[in-house]
Amino acid sequence: MRFPLSMSVSIAAYILRQKLAGTKKFPLVLMLEPLHACNLTCTGCGRIREYVSTIREKLSIDECLQSVDECPAPVVSICGGEPMIYPGIGVLTARILERGKSVYLCTNGMFIKKKISEFRPSNRFFFNVHLDGMEKTHDIAVEREGVFKQAIEGIRIAKEAGFLVCTNTTIFAETDMDEVDQLFGLLKSLGVDGHMISPAYSYQAVHADGIFMDRAMIQQKFLHNIDILFKKYKLMTSPIYLEFLKGERQMQCTAWGNPTRNVKGWKGPCYLITDTHHKTFRQLIEDTPWEKYGYGRDPRCENCMVHVGYEASAVVGLNRKLGDTFRLALWQVT
Ligand code: SF4
Repeated sequence: MRFPLSMSVSIAAYILRQKLAGTKKFPLVLMLEPLHACNLTCTGCGRIREYVSTIREKLSIDECLQSVDECPAPVVSICGGEPMIYPGIGVLTARILERGKSVYLCTNGMFIKKKISEFRPSNRFFFNVHLDGMEKTHDIAVEREGVFKQAIEGIRIAKEAGFLVCTNTTIFAETDMDEVDQLFGLLKSLGVDGHMISPAYSYQAVHADGIFMDRAMIQQKFLHNIDILFKKYKLMTSPIYLEFLKGERQMQCTAWGNPTRNVKGWKGPCYLITDTHHKTFRQLIEDTPWEKYGYGRDPRCENCMVHVGYEASAVVGLNRKLGDTFRLALWQVT
């Protein structure tokens, strides 16, 4: 099984309820950013640059939970910044799980060892550890030596304590896909439960020439390598979305599927670009001119193929083809 059965069933039931109710735009994953502060300065990170003026601000636990209650998404991805330095991260995670949601806690892995006693294993809770390559590559990407070793140690400790652990890898222009294969092999030997993979998005705030890819480069990179990884490892990225990355299928942006809440409000239109911050989730959904965004509509979307923009499209069936439902079901249970 790619995901725990109870998690797959509750997400499938939620999607069915939304479809039966005729809801056109509904969220799947709430991207909750309780803070933007981080102990690292990763080369490709837009957050620590875009939100430099509010980097010391935090949402309170009550504000976080109010956002979780406002937004019906069945999955909450707690990200940032580095959420493991958020005071009360264990309490926040437990309160979200009590609400019947699934939680991915996105972390650089450096504080798992120190803070693991704040958490309890659950079949709806994953530590989601960021790793962009093997030791040398990853430590260059995060601009600090020793991070890879600490992340691997955190993963080992979490697995020994019975937690679900997945990893999140961003693919840049210089990423060596053979090295990603080697990384996933190492993680598999540690018992890691799955891997997310996504091309980088070229944030305007990140001034790093040569690390980002345009659409054609992304398609080339994935076309030649992703099937090998898909066969060997438990990718948590759907086969439909992977076809899109390879350039084998068109998809519409469904950024409303992954709304982002941070210290400034509900970030519109999406996790990546910011035109405004709304006061409420409802305002984000109702007041955003969604038809103005996406490939061919907004120049900032031209080279965007990231999962927060398109994975929901694979799952909720926009641009669907005959047999997609069967393929997604098969992917879940293998
Ligand atoms: S295409 Fe990408 S950048 Fe554009 S709105 Fe969608 S998710 Fe955001």
